[in-house]
Amino acid sequence: MPLADLTSLARDARAADRGLGAFNVIHLEHAETFVAAAERAGLPVVLQISQNAVKYHGSLAPIAAGTLAAARAAQVPVVVHLDHADDLDLVAEALATGFTSIMYDGSHLPAEQNLATTAAVVRDAHAVGVSVEAELGEIGGKNGVHDPSVRTDPAEAAEFVAATGVDLLAVAVGSSHAMTTRGAVLDTELIATIAAAVDVPLVLHGSSGVSDEGMRAAIQAGMTKINVSTHLNKIFTHRVRAVLADDADLVDTRKWFTPASAAVGAEVERLLRWYAG
Ligand SMILES: [Zn+2]
Repeated sequence: MPLADLTSLARDARAADRGLGAFNVIHLEHAETFVAAAERAGLPVVLQISQNAVKYHGSLAPIAAGTLAAARAAQVPVVVHLDHADDLDLVAEALATGFTSIMYDGSHLPAEQNLATTAAVVRDAHAVGVSVEAELGEIGGKNGVHDPSVRTDPAEAAEFVAATGVDLLAVAVGSSHAMTTRGAVLDTELIATIAAAVDVPLVLHGSSGVSDEGMRAAIQAGMTKINVSTHLNKIFTHRVRAVLADDADLVDTRKWFTPASAAVGAEVERLLRWYAG
């Protein structure tokens, strides 16, 4: 089926108090695994390729081609999204390649410049029917919206959305990137306040650090797109380590990739169902 539009999927999810799972594709197997998990769950999914993953591969085209092919062959709605891009050439390449959504990350820029650049990206993306997710600038923490101590100001968020025309907004409500434990406590009251103040679906980065119950409460408070990467990498790598430790003679890469991908797929299916409530 044709790729799905993130804005309408996220708006539908928001209206139904459901979360929408977004998982990072680093290797081609991720795309295949996430699509299969979404099909088993009968739910939509967002496959996201980050600028960092593009750097790892050396270019966008090969991983994007594989991910887009897996998405187009899916029996459920699939969005292919560029995650955390501050490179405008990469954004332009993604728009030309067939991505249906991009996240422009201008959080490192001074507020006015972030606003102006995000608005320009929105114009370019909307001209070709692509959704845009963005985030506010640094609000007192070193890591923009990703420092657990940082909080998005609801009025500032509403102003940013109105001035830029973004379709989804990443907010700072207590999570942080790359957490390997699930003890982050989200500010659900603030999520509800921001959700009431802005008319676009909200995005949580650093969701790996949040418990299942914490995520359910966040979704009920108004969180919609749930980005997960580290949590899945942890499951994958632990499984690989166990398989290799069990068999010192194993050399066929498929023999350790397959059980590790299966473990990740089972967790993605579980998370998708959990987020959908
Ligand atoms: Zn992020």
